[in-house]
Amino acid sequence: MSEITKKQKVEQEVVVGTKCDICGKKSDEAEPDGWHETYHGHEDWGGDSIDSMEYFDVCSPKCYIKLLNKSVKELGRRRTGYIGDMSIHFAVRLLEHFKART
Ligand SMILES: [Zn+2]
Repeated sequence: MSEITKKQKVEQEVVVGTKCDICGKKSDEAEPDGWHETYHGHEDWGGDSIDSMEYFDVCSPKCYIKLLNKSVKELGRRRTGYIGDMSIHFAVRLLEHFKART
């Protein structure tokens, strides 16, 4: 059997930069120095825990704290919530710690 082929151009998505998910700042690097990539989600029993996983890039500690606040708001009532390798409960305590200092 002979295969019949044709040449075809395929569009390919390539990473050309990174955007901060909090303030919208852009960099033309895939992994900008000094930025941080993290994720959050929960492990509650049920099918939606895999879908709960979201990835974020932040450009600064300030944006990271804002992201923590956002994640805590989204996941706060869940027992199994996490932000990166931090449990949601630790994130809440961390934010309280920062609040107490300012
Ligand atoms: Zn930012």
